[in-house]
Amino acid sequence: MCGIVGYVGKQQVAPILLDGLARLEYRGYDSAGIACMENGAIQVYKAKGRLQTLSDLVQGGQAVRSTLGIGHTRWATHGKPSDENSHPHLSQHGRFAIVHNGIIENYSEIKNALLAAGMTFASETDSEVIANLLEQNYTGDLLRAVKATVDALEGSYALGIVCRDHPDRFVAVRHASPLIVGLSDDGNFVASDIPAILAYTRTIYHLGEGEIVELTGDAVRVFNSDLEPVIKQAEEVTWDVKSAEKDGYDYFMEKEIMEQPRALHDTISARINDHGQIVLDGVHLTRQDIEGFRRIYIVACGSAYHVGMVGKYIIEKTTRIPVEVDLASEFRYRDPIVDEKTLMIIISQSGETADTLAALREGKARGARILSIVNVVGSSIANESDDVLYTWAGPEIAVATTKAYSTQLSMMYLIALYMAEKLERIEKEELRSLLASLMQLPELVQQVITRTKPQIMALAKQFHQVEHAYYLGRNVDYAVAMEASLKLKEVSYVHSEAYAAGELKHGTISLIEDGTLVVAMAGCHRVVEKTVSNIQEVKARGATVIVVTTEDNTGVERVSDHVIYLPKVKEMFLPSVEVVPMQMLGFYMAKERGCDVDKPRNLAKSVTVE
Ligand code: GLU
Repeated sequence: MCGIVGYVGKQQVAPILLDGLARLEYRGYDSAGIACMENGAIQVYKAKGRLQTLSDLVQGGQAVRSTLGIGHTRWATHGKPSDENSHPHLSQHGRFAIVHNGIIENYSEIKNALLAAGMTFASETDSEVIANLLEQNYTGDLLRAVKATVDALEGSYALGIVCRDHPDRFVAVRHASPLIVGLSDDGNFVASDIPAILAYTRTIYHLGEGEIVELTGDAVRVFNSDLEPVIKQAEEVTWDVKSAEKDGYDYFMEKEIMEQPRALHDTISARINDHGQIVLDGVHLTRQDIEGFRRIYIVACGSAYHVGMVGKYIIEKTTRIPVEVDLASEFRYRDPIVDEKTLMIIISQSGETADTLAALREGKARGARILSIVNVVGSSIANESDDVLYTWAGPEIAVATTKAYSTQLSMMYLIALYMAEKLERIEKEELRSLLASLMQLPELVQQVITRTKPQIMALAKQFHQVEHAYYLGRNVDYAVAMEASLKLKEVSYVHSEAYAAGELKHGTISLIEDGTLVVAMAGCHRVVEKTVSNIQEVKARGATVIVVTTEDNTGVERVSDHVIYLPKVKEMFLPSVEVVPMQMLGFYMAKERGCDVDKPRNLAKSVTVE
């Protein structure tokens, strides 16, 4: 998500921070800010919008006479992009300034306790509690205050911390968000990512989970979470700046595929509390509201529409409320049957998709209740919805979506289970077991990436010259087949189509001939035998078949040329594990074919035209 940079040393700090933030802007650009130690006090400069606004405010940094500071470029999760919500945040009495990357899952508990203790808050962010908690925990020992504070935090964080009483140093700490330390003769750095400091030093080390670092101009001390000293081994960075932004990957798409376990963790774990209950902040649907819905429309475009298809299968199954999935561009012009007994679920990564926004307005005008799933806080769709669920995927740079799609899927599961629970249509034990599996999903997706990557790379090498590919599946496998097919065609330009497996013989099977590539999604147990019959039909006509299934379905080997085995998972969550090798297949095929993976021809990321 956001970018953090900090420096203490001999140089004027503000230009260094601004330069570092410019190289981290790909991680978020809702606002930018810096906090610098000036004449024994902490001065904060921050502004909503692009970094340039901040830079103009401080004359490129020249206006700030200081050699110690921390900076932040924000990707909002809690609270709209605004000046007040921008980081750094000061504690109530100005003793501490902090920058935060991540999500504090228990912030409202902490905030309530701090409010009860008489503290005040200036922003809507989760992050501000950290500044006030530091002030509450401070008794003169900076490191102890940091330890006591992070011990109380749940969620993910990388923090930069400045304290007025210690004008020669700053502290940083991380848990489940990245942070590196940079060393130089002129001073020392922390940053979310290497490019931020590459102009000043190539000597770095990665801060480990829970480690706390204290930096002065000429010394860096690292401690573990019990404040015991840790010896770190510095490494020399050999990458150029461009590849460093991609964390060593060649493409953002590849990086974003690999980031999915983290994105899923952030999106899911904050929505299931310690008592195993679903907590959907931003959703205010009561049992009565849900009982009142006669139908649900899921409206979206592109990959988000494919998430909607999965949503139809699982929401109908769990709630028994009829669900229709519609393309936003069709919905808005077809005089849809919508009234106040309709729930519309709107899905959009950017929250600005023109057709989707127009469909939302159409539905709202006809009385529908609007629940949106978006990735960008404060976007138009979020603002105009009655209920909003944010996916916390972080900024997605590659045009072809991967991590946003995956986090949208996880939201669908949560919505389906939330409604089923409210309607008492699910046994408590079953819900508990499903939520426990959902919590395991990030780890499972990591396993899928690690296990299938070599096989997918080999398949891409073998098949990258094909001109056509057909994807088949039934039930949720069909929904995944649609997304898998889109992934392939949009980045590799291989013509591909997805069909419900039972539908092929009604026409399209005439296109199957010797060597035609068919990818069959066959994970869904209830229908796997039916899918196998359809695979047999294409095999009999000469197709070369790749089957994607779970490891307990070894029977598919007899009808396939290649099998991609996935770990066993509850049927509801199958799409999340099936889609990952398919994203990789699209990616590696495109790479083999020499395509511009991150910017496929004719496409744009956020489609703000009709
Ligand atoms: N959760 C914090 C906020 O919304 C930090 C987000 C970030 O990592 O940029 O301000």
